Amino acid sequence: MQSLIEHARTFPAKIVDRQEDFAHLARGQKPQALFISCSDSRVIPSLFTGAAPGDLFELRTAGNIVPRYRAQAACGVAGSLEFAVQALQIPDIVVCGHSHCGAVQGLIREQTVHTMPLVRRWLSWAERRAQADEPWQTQGLGEDPTAVTQQHVLTQLDHLRSYPFIARRLSSGRLRLHAWYYTVETGDVLACAPGARTFKPL
Ligand code: ZN
Repeated sequence: MQSLIEHARTFPAKIVDRQEDFAHLARGQKPQALFISCSDSRVIPSLFTGAAPGDLFELRTAGNIVPRYRAQAACGVAGSLEFAVQALQIPDIVVCGHSHCGAVQGLIREQTVHTMPLVRRWLSWAERRAQADEPWQTQGLGEDPTAVTQQHVLTQLDHLRSYPFIARRLSSGRLRLHAWYYTVETGDVLACAPGARTFKPL
């Protein structure tokens, strides 16, 4: 922790020659994309996208899960989505899963999270609606973590479409959804084209 404190303490001095850029940021934000990724410490969106401050509106949740729309939900994810789409009018939303995801491991083998009831409850929001009662193993994906993670990302895209303000913008062409998969050990980013089911290099 100490190195983080030291860096934060000296940060204003480090950006002193970029005062113009930071002053510009204080006047407002117009991010290029809403980037939804896992809370995992190894996944740093600005690192592999080259995003600068102001470029990404980030939403990080355990397992990059986006619960389906519920009108009465008091949910930080739903609130962040609404703000990004309605207030900031973000034109693109990326859901980015990753290799070695602990949350996906929990989806594949529930016993890995059996001592964490809050995590288990959170993971239940990840499920595909049609098979909400079935474990992932019965959904034809086997236990291949890459296949499960990639399908999981596509499922979260489906969940995004259940939000009325997102559905409206998608149908009018003002919003695009992107499914990405990041590989921790190589830095490779794969994407799934709209309508496709397989992930390929960007
Ligand atoms: Zn993860």
